[in-house]
Amino acid sequence: MSWQQRIDEACKQRRAAGLWRERHPVSLRGGSQIEIAGKRYLNFSSNDYLGLSQHPELTTAWQHGVVRYGAGAGASTHVTGYYHLQADFERQLADWLGYSRALLFSSGFAANQAVIAALMASGDRILADRLMHASLLEAAALSPASLRRFAHNQPPALERLLALPCSGETLVVSEGIFSMDGDSAPLVNLQHLTRQHQGWLLIDDAHGIGVLGEGGRGSCWQQQIQPDLLVVTFGKAFGVSGAAVLCSQALAEYLLQFCRHLIYSTAMPPAQIYALQTALKLVQHGDEYRQRLQHNIRYFRQQATRLPGRLMDSDSAIQPWLIGDDTATLALAAALRERGCWVGAIRPPTVPAGSARLRITLSAAHGEREIDCLLEALGDATG
Ligand code: PMP
Repeated sequence: MSWQQRIDEACKQRRAAGLWRERHPVSLRGGSQIEIAGKRYLNFSSNDYLGLSQHPELTTAWQHGVVRYGAGAGASTHVTGYYHLQADFERQLADWLGYSRALLFSSGFAANQAVIAALMASGDRILADRLMHASLLEAAALSPASLRRFAHNQPPALERLLALPCSGETLVVSEGIFSMDGDSAPLVNLQHLTRQHQGWLLIDDAHGIGVLGEGGRGSCWQQQIQPDLLVVTFGKAFGVSGAAVLCSQALAEYLLQFCRHLIYSTAMPPAQIYALQTALKLVQHGDEYRQRLQHNIRYFRQQATRLPGRLMDSDSAIQPWLIGDDTATLALAAALRERGCWVGAIRPPTVPAGSARLRITLSAAHGEREIDCLLEALGDATG
C-alpha cells in the first residue's frame, strides 16, 4: 500500500465508522452565546468556565500589552524573547501555588509533551490513569519510557503496577479533573502511593485551576497535595491560552537546559503575558464567578435528574450526558442545535468505544434561564 493509499484508507475508514470530525467556524462569541454559520446558539461547549475570556479588564489588558510590547516576543526565551514581564509572571504563579518555580509554555499540550520528553529515559516507566488526556498519552507514546495505564481513579490498580520491578525511574501521571468525564482524581492516595515507591507525580490540572480550591488554586490545593510537577493551563478558566509547569528549583534548572520545547520555540507574546497577569488577578479575586459557576452546576444537576438521560457522576463544570451509541449522540447534539443550544458530541477515539456522550460544559456566564433552555431541549429530545 502506498503512503497516499494509506492516508485515503484511514480517512475512508473513519468516515465509514461515522467518526468523521467536522470543524464549525465561529463568527462571533459574547457572554454565553456563540454565532456559527449565521445562527446564534447558547454555548454549552466551551471551557471558559468563569467567563473571563470576554471580561473587559482582560481584553483591555491584552490591547494595552500589544501597544506597549508589540505583537510578538520576537525570539525564543533563550535568545531575546524572555521579558521581565515573563520572569515576574512566573514568580507570581510560583508564589501563588506554593512552588519554587514556574515555567511558561505556549499550550498545555506543549507543556505535557515537553516535560515528559525531557525527563523520561530508556528503562523508566510511566504509570498513568487510563483516561489521561491525549497530550499526555502522545507524550508517553513518543518517549523511550514504558507506559502502563491503571484503571481510572483506582489507586489499588496503581499500587499493583508500582509493585512490579523497574530498573529506572517511575512517573505517575493523572489529572485534577478529567476532561471528558468531569470527575476528580483521588490525589491524596495517588501522592501517597507514588512517594511510597519513590516515584514522581505529575498532575495536569487544566480543568481545576481557577475553578477549585481557595482563591482558584486548583485541585491539588483543594486536596492539599503538592505533586512534583503540576501543569496548569490558561485556555480554560483563565480565558486566554498558554500553560505553566510548577516544580522545584532543581527541576526548573534542568528543564531550562534540556527541554527542547522551551529552547527552540518562540516565546509567548509579552502582550499575552500582560493579559495573563490580569487574568490571574481576576481568578485570585474571582470567588463571585466561582460561586456562580457552582450554583449553575448544582442547578443543572438538580433539574437534570428529572430527565430520562444518564448524567455522569461529576461535580465539575463538565457535565457529560452518557449515551453510548455514536450515531444517537450525534443525533441528540443535532436536535439540541435545532433548539438553539450548542453542545459537543464526543465519540471514540476521544472516549472509549461504547461511551459516546454529550459534553455539556457550564460557565459562570450562564444564567438560570439559559440552563432552563438546555434542560427543556434535552427533555424534549430524550423524552
Ligand atoms: N490537559 C488537559 C487535561 C486538557 O483537557 C487539555 C485541553 N483540552 C490540555 C491538557 C491541553 O491544553 P491546551 O489547550 O492549553 O493545549
